[in-house]
Amino acid sequence: MAVHLVTNPTAGAGRARKRLDAVHRRIAERDVVVPVEVERADEVGPTLRRLARAGALERVVCAGGDGMVHLCAQGLADTGVPVGIVPVGTGNDIARALGLPGALDAAVDAALGEPVAIDLIDHDGTYGVSVLTAGFSGDVNARANGLSFPRGQQRYTVATLLELGRLTPRALLLDVDGEQHQLEVSMLAVGNTAFFGGGMKICPEADPTDGVLDVVAVDAVGPARLARFLPTVFSGRHVARPEVTVLRGRSVTITAVPPIDAWADGEFVGPITSTLTAAPRALAVASARPDGGSQA
Ligand SMILES: [Mg+2]
Repeated sequence: MAVHLVTNPTAGAGRARKRLDAVHRRIAERDVVVPVEVERADEVGPTLRRLARAGALERVVCAGGDGMVHLCAQGLADTGVPVGIVPVGTGNDIARALGLPGALDAAVDAALGEPVAIDLIDHDGTYGVSVLTAGFSGDVNARANGLSFPRGQQRYTVATLLELGRLTPRALLLDVDGEQHQLEVSMLAVGNTAFFGGGMKICPEADPTDGVLDVVAVDAVGPARLARFLPTVFSGRHVARPEVTVLRGRSVTITAVPPIDAWADGEFVGPITSTLTAAPRALAVASARPDGGSQA
């Protein structure tokens, strides 16, 4: 089998590069490795889409963080080409939600395993794999992406603390499968899978195989209350709190004036201007466990 290997073109040198070389070697023990050559990350989706259309892809392995998986999904949605995920990024929320191993060798082996089809979030042909966020959580995402320090999951914690002081609630209208909800939110998440922000279980009940999106809206609460609220998101217990509204549906329309900016899989996707829909079983992910495995 030929495996097309996608890595972050800006991964640079040092430890990150060594890990990617180790991934390459491990795959090469079993299969022919074809590195996908791109100069910029935003070329990943179009390149994979072109190769898939030409029938040139048997399997893609994405060694990177949630952002790289997001880019691969843009190219592979509805193609049937399986993608394996080797989570070597900052958050790794997609791998976490799908019960994929984090240790390098185990992750590579899983990335070459049997594919399981999961849903995606479709926003006018742009796809989200895990969670689309807007409001406060979107601000945190933007802030975290702009930080070069600290590394890893702590970056989100720092970004959260920095953004708490700048909290602006937004009034919006949610239409979920034709039912309307007028809300004022500090945080909105539309989840296909459970986790965002490096291990926060924002949509704890999300099932990426049930054909519906999980909407979690947090009321406008002051910074002090939100600071008490945030720790409960790591366990998923926040959904039992009175300031949280949970909705489920196949289609979600968010109306806000001006349109609300959103991030999907930690990547900026711009203002939400059309309906979000569940794209059933649109992406085949190697060794995915839609229930998240035992750790979720
Ligand atoms: Mg679902």
